[in-house]
Amino acid sequence: MGSFAQFHKRSIADRDNFWAEQAKTIDWQTPPQHICDYSNPPFAKWFVGGTTNLCHNAVDRHLKDRGDQAALIFVSTETEQEKTYTYKDLHLEVQRMAAILQSFGVVKGDRVLIYMPMIAEASFAMLACARIGAIHSVVFGGFASHSLATRIEDASPKVIISADAGSRGGKVVAYKPLLDEAISLSSHKPKAVLMVDRHLSEFAKVDGRDFDYAQEREKHLNAQVPCEMVESTHPSYTLYTSGTTGKPKGVQRDTGGYAVALASSIPNIFQGKPGETFFCTSDIGWVVGHSYIIYGPLIGGMATILYEGLPIRPDGGIWWSLVEKYKVSVMFSAPTAIRVLKKQDPALLTKYNLSSLKALFLAGEPLDEPTAKWISEGLGGTPIIDNYWQTETGWPILTICNGVEKAPSKFGSPGKAVYGYDVKLVDDQTGEELTGANQKGVLTIEGPLPPGNLQTVWGDDARFVNTYWKTVPNKMVYSTFDWAVRDEDGYFFILGRTDDVINVAGHRLGTREIEESISSHPNIAEVAVVGVADQLKGQVAMAFAIAKDASALGDATACLKLEGEVMKVVDSQLGAVARPSRVLFVSALPKTRSGKLLRRAIQAVCEKRDPGDLTTMDDPMALKQIQDVLG
Ligand code: ATP
Ligand code: MG
Repeated sequence: MGSFAQFHKRSIADRDNFWAEQAKTIDWQTPPQHICDYSNPPFAKWFVGGTTNLCHNAVDRHLKDRGDQAALIFVSTETEQEKTYTYKDLHLEVQRMAAILQSFGVVKGDRVLIYMPMIAEASFAMLACARIGAIHSVVFGGFASHSLATRIEDASPKVIISADAGSRGGKVVAYKPLLDEAISLSSHKPKAVLMVDRHLSEFAKVDGRDFDYAQEREKHLNAQVPCEMVESTHPSYTLYTSGTTGKPKGVQRDTGGYAVALASSIPNIFQGKPGETFFCTSDIGWVVGHSYIIYGPLIGGMATILYEGLPIRPDGGIWWSLVEKYKVSVMFSAPTAIRVLKKQDPALLTKYNLSSLKALFLAGEPLDEPTAKWISEGLGGTPIIDNYWQTETGWPILTICNGVEKAPSKFGSPGKAVYGYDVKLVDDQTGEELTGANQKGVLTIEGPLPPGNLQTVWGDDARFVNTYWKTVPNKMVYSTFDWAVRDEDGYFFILGRTDDVINVAGHRLGTREIEESISSHPNIAEVAVVGVADQLKGQVAMAFAIAKDASALGDATACLKLEGEVMKVVDSQLGAVARPSRVLFVSALPKTRSGKLLRRAIQAVCEKRDPGDLTTMDDPMALKQIQDVLG
């Protein structure tokens, strides 16, 4: 093991040699001629001249040494299914799916939209696309017709792969009517719709357009579909961002750079080894699911668990029982899921043998200290490793790379800049780099973005340049749109999104800081703080909180009492300037489907504006509650 500082330094100062070495961890048909072509910034081309295939690297190349080893472990607590596919099995299924796609005329470069629940066939579909050079666009199965329609319109898929239904908490959620409606709303029409029929929900078939997966699969049981070797820069997929701050952006990913980035991240970041099991609890509809349910673990020769179900059904021990049963060595989840578990009996955390588990990784939103402490104590010392990244980057920007050099974590910090990322904090007004410790700036990345990051916004190069590279004055750098500080040891702390900063009488405050402070009150489970326009002060902070023990909020006086206590906490920790003008209590907060707080929507409601694009919102009632408590 070397020093991480050296490793990181080399990745920037000796970029091409560093990545040429990393590139050797995947199979190439033709090795790359040119490691990084950055002749047309900010468009970076990685491993130019190389030809390879994602599916080959995820599946075929393992057949020789680990064909009989588990590759995909499908577990559904919704339909009581549990099935392990070896690498050989996966290879067969993916070829069958690829043959079906070819029978519909899908060729390299065509788009295939995947709108599916968390079932094994969804992974066959993704890998089959990669196999034949088609570009997949997975749309989260929880989205309804409007969100789906905008994505169909944008991706213009030749084929859509879907299923009759998903299931959540034992309740069947029919997909087909939503899909039919989405197709009718969209001006683009797919040539074929392939339906996986789980027999959960009856559906109407459109003659000539809709095909049954089981029937088609029968026709191609012995299919042999070779991997189509594509240029490293060939797009592998498009995926939309969560839409927390506005209209979702269609992130376009390459092939070679992505494969190399993931291959290197498995040992260096996640400490995963071939033959071990990776359990990522995300959904294939999100970037974490793309990188760490499907491609990363498989490229790394690991078994991956694809889990359909809630973390608390049949009980809050289900995930840990899977860790024991499948000897999971790497687990990846999100703070929002841990907060759900926090409401369950903590004894469930210690009921199972978790000795195989090296670490639990969390990403997607800020990991608050109480949640981090709760889970790390509950798991009896399993390291909890926060990692910060974006749909755009495809793999972590900030974390602790324990596979390179063991280093301690700090509560509240995702860690240091990952190798390959030339992270700079800059002043948003002047564009000047902030090099001192504990200075607050916008977290930016100096181009070229490392392998695996977005190539562009699908079909809209101008949006890529203007959205990400033109927001910092006097400088062309990639903006993450997140505020951060870096301490004297190089650990970053994310303070919130750049549009979540509020300006109270000239004081610029991060909503995240105020939320952290409020969360430290023992009876606060969760809170959202937004800045609301105020004639006197410019803006004031407003807080919407969920109490851990709602019975303490029996009447208006009790609410006022807790509100007063919360304000005192903020006064003492941050100063009166950060004190919210009101702390109002609700039972749910508006979030995106991926569990991110929709502060922009809350803010709009507070300011009596139109909340805008809400297609990615999880529970519309939560926003209604905000409206109600505002009176
Ligand atoms: P949009 O860009 O469409 O508004 P989004 O930014 O929520 O949506 P994602 O790419 O899913 O879409 O989320 C990335 C963002 O999530 C980051 O920019 C950051 O704000 C937040 N985030 C992710 N991981 C962490 C983490 N470990 N700590 C703090 N924030 C995180
Ligand atoms: Mg974003």
